[in-house]
Amino acid sequence: NMSGNPQQQAEPLIPGVKKVIAVASGKGGVGKSTTTMNLALALQQLGAKVGILDADIYGPSLPRMMGVHGIPRMEAEKGQKVTPMEKYGVKIMSMGFFMPEDTPMIWRGPMVGMAVEQLLRDIDWGELDYLVIDLPPGTGDAQLTLTQKVPLSGVVIVSTPQDVALADVRKGINMFKKVEVPVLGIIENMSYYLCTECGHRAEIFSHGGAEKEAANSGMTFLGHIPISEDIRKDSDAGKPIVVARPDSPQAQQYLEIARNVV
Ligand code: ADP
Repeated sequence: NMSGNPQQQAEPLIPGVKKVIAVASGKGGVGKSTTTMNLALALQQLGAKVGILDADIYGPSLPRMMGVHGIPRMEAEKGQKVTPMEKYGVKIMSMGFFMPEDTPMIWRGPMVGMAVEQLLRDIDWGELDYLVIDLPPGTGDAQLTLTQKVPLSGVVIVSTPQDVALADVRKGINMFKKVEVPVLGIIENMSYYLCTECGHRAEIFSHGGAEKEAANSGMTFLGHIPISEDIRKDSDAGKPIVVARPDSPQAQQYLEIARNVV
């Protein structure tokens, strides 16, 4: 029963956007941005119209990871709305387009919500099936305000299999419960390493923790992604693995996750 969802009562959906899905993580560096972008591209490959909003305003990395440069245009005939950039068939907007890459941004919690709300309101997304939002890492004030300001259909949580990362995931799940945002499921990133030379499977950050956590808390488990040199290399080169190597097992794993999300 979602009738008590304050967002559904107070916030209209973004015009033209059918579903808004946020990607969250309990802490930084677990591969949230990598997952956001490959998941969005996988959704696009399944035939959906997709946009990505990089709301990780502390360290917006999606412009670099997707190889998008330049400054989005503001169009007078569209009521001063900003046209998102476009790459690999998806629309993308990031605060990173407006700030130099080596300048740290210092934001207080409430400002994050305001900045992201403005990013959403002032952008002409056109018609989208999915808007995928890369949230700032963590489950503090900033994330809380953001989830209250933005009309989310649901949230996907990315974690490594490790205990510390998982403890943070539990905090995240509780936060989303509190603000009544449905958790669509958990993705385990850096799940294992498959040696490209000998095929040995090494469980560097242990394995299966996120799946167990999902089962314990009654959440859907969306899938595993291995530690992969190709995933890292393709991100560094600005061409995510889902488009760079669509036939790779890793790209297929992102597609499988996307199928579980829709
Ligand atoms: P976060 O958004 O959680 O801070 P990022 O997506 O920026 O994390 O990832 C951090 C680093 O780890 C990046 O260099 C990225 O390329 C790398 N990375 C993420 N996921 C994987 C993976 N499955 N295999 C290998 N490298 C990964």
